[in-house]
Amino acid sequence: MVSEFKLIRRFFTRATPGAVLGVGDDAALLHVKNGMELVVSTDMLVSGTHFFPDNDPFFLGHKALAVNLSDMAAMAAQPRWATLALSLPEVDETWLEKFSAGLFALADEHHVELIGGDTTHGPLNLCITIMGEVPHGTALRRSGAQVGDDVWVSGVLGNAALALVHMQGRMQLAAEDFAACALALHRPMPRVALGRALRGVAHSAIDISDGLLADLGHILDCSNVGAEIAFNALPVSSSLQRYLEQPLGKHCLLAGGDDYELCFTASVAHRFEVERIAASLGLLLTRIGTITAEKKCTVRAEDGSIVNIEESGYDHFR
Ligand code: ADP
Ligand code: MG
Repeated sequence: MVSEFKLIRRFFTRATPGAVLGVGDDAALLHVKNGMELVVSTDMLVSGTHFFPDNDPFFLGHKALAVNLSDMAAMAAQPRWATLALSLPEVDETWLEKFSAGLFALADEHHVELIGGDTTHGPLNLCITIMGEVPHGTALRRSGAQVGDDVWVSGVLGNAALALVHMQGRMQLAAEDFAACALALHRPMPRVALGRALRGVAHSAIDISDGLLADLGHILDCSNVGAEIAFNALPVSSSLQRYLEQPLGKHCLLAGGDDYELCFTASVAHRFEVERIAASLGLLLTRIGTITAEKKCTVRAEDGSIVNIEESGYDHFR
């Protein structure tokens, strides 16, 4: 049996040149640059709720950090540091090796340093707190949407949810569609560069973790506005396109969770600027609707009829 300290040293201790003090003391020490605000967020992945216990540990390491990076992206923050609280049913060194490799691969890509954490025995539970920086006053909030703003989303929506309904046996996907969508579910790509680029351009932003309608709904609630969304404008992958007419198809698109794309609003005057950002990042950005004064969210089909879906998003306690 490996000791907790050896385990931390072997799997979770790396050089942290961006911190005053990293792993190994009672706490880490961080220096936030002048003129910057500290941005902090925590996201937890629980076995059985957010993933299956037999999920590939490399992808779990990736995803545990990715969902946190996505929150930094939504705030337009530059992620800098993370802590990892890990509860493990057993010390499985092969599992830990792959988990930490997946976590550090994504951390390195974003220059994020793991500066501490906690390791305990218990049901498998992965909790990361992420810290980032944003120039004073430039963070994007949910509360900034203005009437007349364009509503935008990055990437395509619904692929992760489509993979999940297939895994749950609620829909049957062709093998190549499942392969494409499973990647979206297990390896989300947080839109950190997009978030940064939207400083001073977007009025509001959120990351889509619980489905477009639920998360856009948070922007609308916080901003005291409504929205009119064009169903036909929504960015659908070629995979989802094939299942869109099936009972759960529209649900995946409008209310599927785990996309980790950004939804943001920006004034019409910034349309070309947003398109320039899309081109410079090589990222699909799609204008899907408009912010309205009437405080409700309407999704409209091309013929003017209203598109309804029963549940608008994933709520753990519903
Ligand atoms: P304490 O008992 O003082 O809380 P711990 O023994 O829990 O300290 O942790 C020792 C050091 O290892 C601390 O710097 C802590 O932040 C770090 N640490 C513990 N678990 C992890 C982990 N899973 N990943 C990264 N650092 C960790
Ligand atoms: Mg201590």
